[in-house]
Amino acid sequence: MIRQDYKWENRKIIVETGDLMIGFIGLGIMGENMARRLIESGQELILHNRTKEKADELIKKGAQWADTPAQVAERADIVFTMLTTPSVVEAVIYGEHGLLSGLSNNTLWVDTSTVKPAYSLKWAKDARNAGGRFVDAPVAGSKGPAEQGKLHFLVGGSKKDVEEITPLLDVMGQSVQHMGDIGKGSATKLAVNLTLVQSMAGLAEAVSFGESVGLDRAQLTDLLLMLPTTAPVLDGKRDMIVNGTFETQFPLEHAYKDLQQLSETAYESGAPLPISHAAKELFAFAKQKGLGREDFAAVYLALKQEK
Ligand code: NAP
Repeated sequence: MIRQDYKWENRKIIVETGDLMIGFIGLGIMGENMARRLIESGQELILHNRTKEKADELIKKGAQWADTPAQVAERADIVFTMLTTPSVVEAVIYGEHGLLSGLSNNTLWVDTSTVKPAYSLKWAKDARNAGGRFVDAPVAGSKGPAEQGKLHFLVGGSKKDVEEITPLLDVMGQSVQHMGDIGKGSATKLAVNLTLVQSMAGLAEAVSFGESVGLDRAQLTDLLLMLPTTAPVLDGKRDMIVNGTFETQFPLEHAYKDLQQLSETAYESGAPLPISHAAKELFAFAKQKGLGREDFAAVYLALKQEK
């Protein structure tokens, strides 16, 4: 049930009263870390995840468990989802035990998954029809920033709803970028990942090219990362490429999914995406090679020449 008696002026007030229930669905690489930060800041959380064991640590820290997404929505004032693809979100929200069936009383659903804006608009309408509210708030930043509360939230929704959740976003992130109405957060996230994924593909291509003409992988990678021509975010991929081990921070299959969301959106808006489409096919190829659950830096392996 949504309460009207809480105040957001001072985060401590929420911690002290602890009378707001926050729902969190999706405890993967990002969601587990985001939920942990909320719990450690003193919020009361109720969790659901397809694989229950992933909630064990958070339950030990005081979070409650719900057997279905509907139960989360019934008991929470604000519900966050952090899921993978649009079809996974739809599997979680529709149906007898889905999130939407438990949404009522003005409950605010905040979807932080990366999806195309058309889905955010559709789900916002369905949330309204169920008596709830909706904000799209995908994030820029990966596993490390999620652990450290340094994400950037890219947000679409009404000013009032965004203001209402901002103290919670501040617990999980370092900035809240309100980009406009519903869908604008998702649209922004696709633009952000356009540059991220192309930059990663570019570095992978440069290193594999260099090796093909006899350059040393480590020396070349360090040089490329030292120069201003390479995106700084790729510093974190240095050891992965040099050592050839790709411990997952951002799964490659999600990068591919994001390029597909981007492609569909650009088709609808009429924007040409020549470079993104080339990158998308490279990630499709890498996924087909079995690299989908590796970090997206493993796109390098799809290009590297077999010796
Ligand atoms: P992830 O580790 O793959 O976790 C995905 C979550 O979705 C898990 O909770 C998983 O449940 C759940 N899920 C998957 N398939 C499901 C199904 N069929 N039914 C119900 N639940 C299902 O993903 P992630 O890296 O946290 O990313 C989540 C979202 O954030 C994605 O949209 C991604 O593009 C975006 N994102 C990721 C990063 C990053 O660096 N990782 C950064 C920014 C944005 P189980 O635990 O049961 O598998």
